[in-house]
Amino acid sequence: MCTQCDFRDALFAKGLLIDTGIDGLYGRSGVFEDVIARFDDLITRFGGGDGADIVRFPPGMNRALFEKSGYLKSFPQLAGTIHSFDGNDADHATLLGKLEGHEDWTQDQKATDIVLAPAACYPLYPVVARLGTLPDDGRLYDLQSYCFRREPSTDPARMQMFRMREYVRIGTPEQVTEFRQTWLERGPKLIACLGLPAELDVANDPFFGRAGRMLANNQRDQKLKFELLIPIESTEKPTACLSFNYHQDHFGSLWGIVRADGTTAHTACVGFGMERVALALFKHHGLDPKAWPAGVRETLWG
Ligand code: AMP
Ligand code: ZN
Repeated sequence: MCTQCDFRDALFAKGLLIDTGIDGLYGRSGVFEDVIARFDDLITRFGGGDGADIVRFPPGMNRALFEKSGYLKSFPQLAGTIHSFDGNDADHATLLGKLEGHEDWTQDQKATDIVLAPAACYPLYPVVARLGTLPDDGRLYDLQSYCFRREPSTDPARMQMFRMREYVRIGTPEQVTEFRQTWLERGPKLIACLGLPAELDVANDPFFGRAGRMLANNQRDQKLKFELLIPIESTEKPTACLSFNYHQDHFGSLWGIVRADGTTAHTACVGFGMERVALALFKHHGLDPKAWPAGVRETLWG
């Protein structure tokens, strides 16, 4: 039995998610979006007092910067690039001919200078590097973006296009680890306010290939990534809904983010999977938010 399909079918039937014919690519209803907006607001109630600079990037990023970011070394399987028509009238006729003949027309498309953002924080680091020397108290950002990851699945919680809200801290190792510790404490409280069961665990990113296995083990051994897991599809394999990442000086040295004393900045981010938390709410409290427990409604709608 496919329980994932059951839940997804129920979401489709209720109109909360809208089938586009592609696994992991869905429309969202007004009710679904209202839950996302209220959850977004709840995150701000927990983190908004920290004085983060709010920045919003579109879901595309500069391809040259993406190439430099190292994403293709670690996660080539997840990346999405934007290609486009770049021809003349004859090329256009060829395109139309291929379409007509149901031939592959995509081979003629040219890579553009834009790729899809794989995480909300990727476009940020080069921008921060450009600002020059870090202030003594570092920097803190509030981001949100649609992200793309090529991981088609019938599990509605594994989307190809989804939103990620993030807080990103840039500073000394102490500033950055304190930030992550704060969110490791806030995250479970925030999810408890929503009446959802959750557990924190050490995690690793899905680094590609054989070399990737070593990177993943190293990330786990050093406890560089934690996830807050909530059962959505199965209780055996709960879903990562919040992530707490400590990058050490990886992005700082890659992009040349330096402090006044010449040392390289450390970075950390906390990421909220907006759709995943919304789906967890629908899974645990039912498909009609009006019937959710009073405490949960109070938390979200006040
Ligand atoms: P990560 O950068 O992998 O730690 O992702 C940050 C957060 O985004 C995760 O904690 C998830 O909640 C969410 N997320 C990651 N991948 C997906 C996906 N395929 N579909 C929906 N949400 C996702
Ligand atoms: Zn991040």
